[in-house]
Amino acid sequence: MFDHIRAFYQPRTVNEAIRLLHKPGGQACLIAGGTDLVLRAGRSVTDLVDIAHLGLDYIRRSGQGVRIGATTTLAALEHSQHVQHLANGILAKATASCGTIQTRNVATIGGNLANASPAADTATPLLVLDAQVVLQGLRSRRQLPLAEFFRGPHQTVANGLLLTEIVIPPCQPRVAWSFQRFGRTEIDIAVVNVAAGLQLDRRGRCTWIRVALGAVAPRPIRAPNVEAVLADSILNRTRIERAADTAAQEIRPITDVRASADYRTELSRVLLRRALEECAQHLECAL
Ligand SMILES: Cc1cc2nc3c(=O)[nH]c(=O)nc-3n(C[C@H](O)[C@H](O)[C@H](O)COP(=O)(O)OP(=O)(O)OC[C@H]3O[C@@H](n4cnc5c(N)ncnc54)[C@H](O)[C@@H]3O)c2cc1C
Repeated sequence: MFDHIRAFYQPRTVNEAIRLLHKPGGQACLIAGGTDLVLRAGRSVTDLVDIAHLGLDYIRRSGQGVRIGATTTLAALEHSQHVQHLANGILAKATASCGTIQTRNVATIGGNLANASPAADTATPLLVLDAQVVLQGLRSRRQLPLAEFFRGPHQTVANGLLLTEIVIPPCQPRVAWSFQRFGRTEIDIAVVNVAAGLQLDRRGRCTWIRVALGAVAPRPIRAPNVEAVLADSILNRTRIERAADTAAQEIRPITDVRASADYRTELSRVLLRRALEECAQHLECAL
């Protein structure tokens, strides 16, 4: 595990953490809750930079939006009343579905995103919420859409940068939201997860739509083709089936120990259907 680590730093400021990350003469790695890193840290990592004491543990209202510090734990998000009331509670539901209580008490939202697992449960709700991430470097600070943050399995654009904050913009009015997930057991990572946000006009025509899927591609993805099928259409059972068929074509799942690619494809249809049905129910739209 960490028997080869020669230094463990506990900086108190973001700048100090970034300087330690770039300190010459070894390979340093950021550690937050450590719940992914303990399983994945290669033996080339020599120094650990603990980011738990940088003051990045917060959930703040910002206008009608929310700013979440990167080291906020999944448990804090799960229990935050504000997060529970945001967007039909999809982010609270997603965090509550991550592993065990013990894991959620130390695991952070920044770690969940920076680890860039295709199955990361906070990624899909944050994608449909149009979240942005703030990345801090030695001499730079960037804010970019979460959709541009992931590059592939366990790869992000944050190489050498510290993810400091997740910014959720104000939600569109009268949007209903859903987060759906299936895992082999309650504490296993998701076989597939799906998040959706849907706005309908009085006639039941879809005026705004977001769909994201996890564990079905090298990174958590938005599904633009599914969104195109739903946009400007009357939401009914036929349209939902077309969206589910489109999702099955848009994803690129793999077969692994948890499920076959075929199973993930079928599950994506089922979870997308459920997500859209739940949104319709919130909006009191009869299908
Ligand atoms: C038993 C168990 C069950 C789990 N179940 C789930 C599950 O159901 N769903 C799910 O999504 N995940 C699950 N996980 C994975 C894990 O708990 C989460 O991904 C967690 O949120 C990671 O956060 P952390 O703070 O522990 O990250 P760490 O392990 O500390 O870090 C993970 C990676 O991100 C980097 N990193 C961390 N923070 C930052 C930052 N602010 N800026 C830049 N880089 C950073 C680290 O260098 C490291 O490479 C599970 C893990 C375990 C052990």
